[in-house]
Amino acid sequence: MSSQPGQNSYGSTNASFGGGPRQEMEYLCADCGAKNEIKSREPIRCRECGHRIMYKKRTKRST
Ligand SMILES: [Zn+2]
Repeated sequence: MSSQPGQNSYGSTNASFGGGPRQEMEYLCADCGAKNEIKSREPIRCRECGHRIMYKKRTKRST
């Protein structure tokens, strides 16, 4: 097994997405809680800590 830095193993290129309105969503990092504005085409990842689990920021909150 040769390590290839910079190569993602998941080969999912969402090229069939073209045509939709680009919209930025606000996500909150599940790890550090930083707010990240992530476009629908971009991978979800925290820019502060690199965590990949993000919560959608919503005004509604189920208590
Ligand atoms: Zn984070």
